[in-house]
Amino acid sequence: MDLGIAGRWALVCGASKGLGLGCARALAAEGVNVVIVARGADALEAAAADLRALPGAAQVVTVATDITTAQGRATALAACPQVDILVTNAGGPPAGDFRDWDRDTWLAALDANMLTPIELIRATVDAMAARGYGRVVNITSSSVKAPIDVLGLSNGARSGLTGFIAGIARTHLARNVTVNNLLPGAFDTDRLRGILQASADKQGQPLADVSARRQGSIPAGRFGNADEFGATCAFLCSVHAGYITGQNLLIDGGAYPGTF
Ligand code: NAD
Repeated sequence: MDLGIAGRWALVCGASKGLGLGCARALAAEGVNVVIVARGADALEAAAADLRALPGAAQVVTVATDITTAQGRATALAACPQVDILVTNAGGPPAGDFRDWDRDTWLAALDANMLTPIELIRATVDAMAARGYGRVVNITSSSVKAPIDVLGLSNGARSGLTGFIAGIARTHLARNVTVNNLLPGAFDTDRLRGILQASADKQGQPLADVSARRQGSIPAGRFGNADEFGATCAFLCSVHAGYITGQNLLIDGGAYPGTF
């Protein structure tokens, strides 16, 4: 299927690794010009080389910056001639006990996982609407549907973003500017590997055993991979998805047990 987005410009945040890179790869493979953002220049340049090698790839621009800062967002936006597609993403907040989190800890989580996407949306959607085409995809988490007790910072910050998106997606912006959230379950990325390693260390068990048990608890019997996540993102950004907005799409191998 031709997604009809070749030649468009996408700003993809948190894109040197993991799910963000999966989204950038799927878009670049469709001939979308991508501006990829991450903090570390080395991993970002390696990711860019990977994307430029894709058949049909258009321009790949790198911006090594922290997207959770005002300066970082300004630099990233300035590097993108026009933002037709916006993929918001940043690292997830740390796990822990809410009794240990003070106001500054909360503000950091809100900055990264709620206010940064809102600021990027604020800076881009009116121009998308004026041009008559726009796609926003926010990478959130399955924790929005099924909270994870030790990830209270993520549960809270991402639910705030989700509520905000539900409102703006149903305004005049819906005239070919769509705003949707992708909710990953367990995906085989550095972040998940770090969480599994911490769990293995805590339990004094081999990483392979902890990983196998976790995969066995998912109906699909495996972790997701970044390319299948990216393919879903690219579809939501395509010309074919103009009637899908304000949605929260779980990609979790069937792990969420509810009907809705
Ligand atoms: P990852 O750690 O593998 O990759 C994160 C990417 O974001 C990297 O490129 C990193 O450099 C970049 N990044 C992090 N903080 C940044 C910042 N402040 N500014 C710019 N770039 C930044 O993580 P991932 O597994 O791809 O997860 C992406 C998002 O999805 C995270 O918010 C994570 O919490 C969430 N998530 C992941 C899973 C999973 O199983 N992997 C599940 C649920 C939610």
